[in-house]
Amino acid sequence: MPKSSLTLSSSVRYLKGVGPRKEKLLNSLGIHSVADLIFITPRTWENRRISKDFLGAQIEHRAFAVRILNTKEESRAHGRFVVFQAEAACDHPQAPRLSLLWIRRRSRFDVFGKLRLEIRPGAAVFIWGKIEPPRAGSAGNPEVSIEDYEILHQGLWPAGSPHWNRLAPVYSSTTGLAQRELRRWRFEALDLWRQARVWSWPQELRPLLPQGVNNAAWAYEKIHFPETLDEKSRARRSLAFWEMTLLGLAMEQRRQKLMAIKKNWPLTEAGSGSALFNRLLLGLGFSLTESQRRAIDEILQDMGRLNPMNRLLQGEVGSGKTLVALAALCHAVSAGYQCAFVAPTEILVFQHAMNFRRLLEPLGIRVGSLTSDTPAKEREEILEELAGGALLVVVGTHSLLEPEVSFQRLALIVIDEQHRFGVDQRSMLRRKTVTPDCLVLTATPIPRTLALALYGDLDVTTMEELPLGRTLAKIHLARSEQEAWTALQECLALGQQAFVVVPAIEDEDQGDNLTKVLIRLRQMLPGISIASVHGRMSGRDKEEALLTFHRAQAQVLAATTVIEVGIDVPRAAVMIVLSAERFGLATLHQLRGRVGRGESRGLCVLVPSSEALNHSRGPEGELLFTNGSIFQNGIASESIMRLRRFSGCRNGFDVGLLDLELRGPGDLLGKEQHGNFSIRHFDWSGDQDLIAPARGMAQAILSRDPSLGCEPALRHAVELRYGTNYAMNELS
Ligand code: ADP
Ligand code: MG
Repeated sequence: MPKSSLTLSSSVRYLKGVGPRKEKLLNSLGIHSVADLIFITPRTWENRRISKDFLGAQIEHRAFAVRILNTKEESRAHGRFVVFQAEAACDHPQAPRLSLLWIRRRSRFDVFGKLRLEIRPGAAVFIWGKIEPPRAGSAGNPEVSIEDYEILHQGLWPAGSPHWNRLAPVYSSTTGLAQRELRRWRFEALDLWRQARVWSWPQELRPLLPQGVNNAAWAYEKIHFPETLDEKSRARRSLAFWEMTLLGLAMEQRRQKLMAIKKNWPLTEAGSGSALFNRLLLGLGFSLTESQRRAIDEILQDMGRLNPMNRLLQGEVGSGKTLVALAALCHAVSAGYQCAFVAPTEILVFQHAMNFRRLLEPLGIRVGSLTSDTPAKEREEILEELAGGALLVVVGTHSLLEPEVSFQRLALIVIDEQHRFGVDQRSMLRRKTVTPDCLVLTATPIPRTLALALYGDLDVTTMEELPLGRTLAKIHLARSEQEAWTALQECLALGQQAFVVVPAIEDEDQGDNLTKVLIRLRQMLPGISIASVHGRMSGRDKEEALLTFHRAQAQVLAATTVIEVGIDVPRAAVMIVLSAERFGLATLHQLRGRVGRGESRGLCVLVPSSEALNHSRGPEGELLFTNGSIFQNGIASESIMRLRRFSGCRNGFDVGLLDLELRGPGDLLGKEQHGNFSIRHFDWSGDQDLIAPARGMAQAILSRDPSLGCEPALRHAVELRYGTNYAMNELS
């Protein structure tokens, strides 16, 4: 392809120096088109400016321009390494002479062939490497271990080099792709980028930009090759604002779509609903918390409106969200409408169904439950009753989303533990009936400003309070499995119950699994009754196992994460999670919430797999875990760091934020979004001040141009991130 016809959407294979092999490697980094080179921004920057700044006492990376005086080669460390050494003149005041070292492992090949040709007396060279500061009183020259160099031809400084005398970007890479190449291709891509002139804010909206925020076009250029560190941080903030505005555009369009919809049955007559709920409360033996009362008020108001409710109810594990949802359910049911309660796992469906039956059947309300395990005949009956309107309340898993499930007059959908459900599922359910109210429950709440930005199409209620006297279980990050077993034995000795959770059922891999742990537990705990439950058991067997544990006929329940959410066993005091690094943070938080629901405070012991622990050993093989506070001086593996940060979380808010920071908002906007493409530059803790202005910008843009018809570039940018159907056009 001639260079002139190369565009931002061309494949990278048309770039100079990219053959089939490098194309594959680039693809593996997520780089397919020339534009991807721009969107994938540097991991860090090296300050390769030649400066005469003072050399400190620390070893540091520096760039110098030097002239070679003489060279020699030698062996070191018992001949395992070979060193190419050059003495060079430099015009740094503290280092007029430098000793340059290229150190390589000895090899059959001549590793210094090229150096010998290039690094010759008289050559002018740029160098980048680690300098050992000059030692006071030492006669030797300061030494520099060279990491990159370039010969200056005719002694000329190359103007505008992507590599030298500047802040040089460093990209995530893979074996076979050099930073030099990655930089050079960016340079070419940025030429096209400048010509394309995309992504500038319309002139009259520029006053809405927060201080220091600039166009995305400018920011994408400067984030790769900033002139100064300050410019780099302004570029990053600008991109953070840009991302939040795109998210705002997607959310706002979606919200407006939803607002325009009228629902079929506004439930205005609140009277009978509260009467029914009050009767339910009478049977409970406790009163609502203030938070619960407020949440119920908000929800009932929503249900009385003409447009459908889209509300997120955030509240700590154990804050009693189910009861709030039951209030909404009573409201719908007493007016003769249907209600679907969707839960992420079969076990939770089973538990909710059991609970709801206990509470609702005495009031004359039948409760159906539907999972993939429901026997065919029973399923048939339930489907018929739902379609005919004879059954008002159904609890189920994803199977409620299947096309053959239809309702006669579905007025309310409750989705428990939202982190398992993306927007896609929500809209799928909505399509089932005309437009029911929708209530989403989550135990990993996030701050209101963030929630508004991320779930802009939802209203948010937050319950801060836990029922009286309850606290979240303590977390202990264990250094060995033994610590967990000790805790387990202490708990059993007190007559309490415990969970042991593992990531797998059988030996799918080397790690902890249910089969192994059951053998272990039976050996360790003779005379203790142990139940077990996992996803491949039939529904009946699962129920049986859970009931055994519920009735305290078993002291230990060993399980896979089928018990993740919602299991409520008051006497369970200890939760042990093996191979803990293999669980998501929201899952771990749920597990933590499973224990200590009775009188005593629970304990949640996280045991990393031996593999993860092995990755956290210091240079001498010592475990970088001391005195309960780990990694005082070592680098722990990323997975353990994640657990460590999790164990510092005081509540669901902390977990919600940490999860956002580590994982991004995931599939909040549906499956089309790839990876974490939408939010890369936004800093979850430091950029919250950008959220409101970004929403303002999005609203201003849409008020001029509701479907972005006149802003094709912006529309394209939103679609690039959130998929072509981000505005839920399927609803129109
Ligand atoms: P979550 O918000 O995690 O879903 P649940 O709804 O499962 O919490 O409630 C946890 C436990 O607290 C349940 O046993 C429930 O019956 C109980 N509960 C709910 N509301 C209250 C309250 N106001 N006072 C005391 N206990 C309550
Ligand atoms: Mg719950």
